[in-house]
Amino acid sequence: VEKILEVQQVKKHFNVGRGQVVQAVDNVSFDVYKGETLGLVGESGCGKSTIGRTIIRLYEATDGNINFKGKMTKDLKGKNLKQFNREMQMIFQDPYASLNPRMTVGDIIAEGLDIHELAKGKERRDKVVELLKTVGLNEEHADRFPHEFSGGQRQRIGIARALAVDPDFIIADEPISALDVSIQAQVVNLMKKLQREKGLTYLFIAHDLSMVKYISDRVGVMYLGNMVELADSQELYDNPLHPYTEALLSAVPIPDPETEKRKERIILKGDVPSPIDPPSGCRFRTRCPKAMGICAQEIPTWQEVRPLHWVSCHLYQEESLKKEEGVK
Ligand code: SF4
Ligand code: MG
Repeated sequence: VEKILEVQQVKKHFNVGRGQVVQAVDNVSFDVYKGETLGLVGESGCGKSTIGRTIIRLYEATDGNINFKGKMTKDLKGKNLKQFNREMQMIFQDPYASLNPRMTVGDIIAEGLDIHELAKGKERRDKVVELLKTVGLNEEHADRFPHEFSGGQRQRIGIARALAVDPDFIIADEPISALDVSIQAQVVNLMKKLQREKGLTYLFIAHDLSMVKYISDRVGVMYLGNMVELADSQELYDNPLHPYTEALLSAVPIPDPETEKRKERIILKGDVPSPIDPPSGCRFRTRCPKAMGICAQEIPTWQEVRPLHWVSCHLYQEESLKKEEGVK
């Protein structure tokens, strides 16, 4: 399978004044394959939106490399940068805030066509109508304003806007979190249909684990700026390896009683520590039910412990366990 995106040891730190630095994303590495949906999950503040915004260059990475279609994105300039800005699009969490209230829906959808000079006049209008139909709206909607639409319809408008420039890769940052539960499945099903028809690749950021399982081929779990586990979604839900993933999944009712081994609910102690002063060693250690001595001393390595199943935890590192034995 072809890699479309490679994220290599990316850091995004923010200076917040008085010499303090928020380590929002720290040493995150993963690949995204062409045509797949990679889900990213974790509690708010875990860095999942920050990594999405860094990938699409809304933020500049503090360190590390991001390759899109084999090119280092930080080096893109001129024509190549413009092409990147067309090929990668974003859908935002809040369809209320992300649509300009003073623009007609038609002009909102055509914004990318205008910027990239892809169509004008009748061709532009035809393209807008076609996009409206693609997302389940119709021509008469083009001349109305965003406030005249429901949340679900606005998210469809956001999707049409992203599709207008014929992208390959879409970052969807909690696209359904602000919608009524009854509308969420409709939007997700629309996204799946569009993916099949257009061969799109998705990075789907969410905190709802059951919806993520439904839409994603693979799922990455983030905690306090780190990716802690990444696997095929069925594998991740059946055999979580990282203690944080285990805890997250223990709280989720998976609607498949046949395969579900009823897991005991794991309640984590304490709160997520501050990303300004994260714990030494493993960042999860202050809340981990399985923490060992070495967890405070060494950062666990991000490694593939089974084919295509990545985890960052000392429990799966021979060397660490040997050292731990020595410690006792
Ligand atoms: Fe828990 Fe240690 Fe694994 Fe971190 S490295 S998740 S503290 S066992
Ligand atoms: Mg967010």
